[in-house]
Amino acid sequence: MIIHASGKAHLPGCGHIDPADIRAPLYGWVLAPSPGAWRRLAPSHPLRATQGNTERAAVSRCMTCDATQ
Ligand SMILES: [Zn+2]
Repeated sequence: MIIHASGKAHLPGCGHIDPADIRAPLYGWVLAPSPGAWRRLAPSHPLRATQGNTERAAVSRCMTCDATQ
């Protein structure tokens, strides 16, 4: 799960993200999110990045990525 500065989470392969851009400090990410973590993402349930920029926390889902889930 890739976390943008806006707090929006994307999944690997999303067309909104250039893979070359996936690096700190622009993005933070979680390599192995727990099952259901994507669905739980909300302002009340932020998911903190564990790698890259660990200051990033996801609070919303990319709708394009969401459609693949
Ligand atoms: Zn996306």
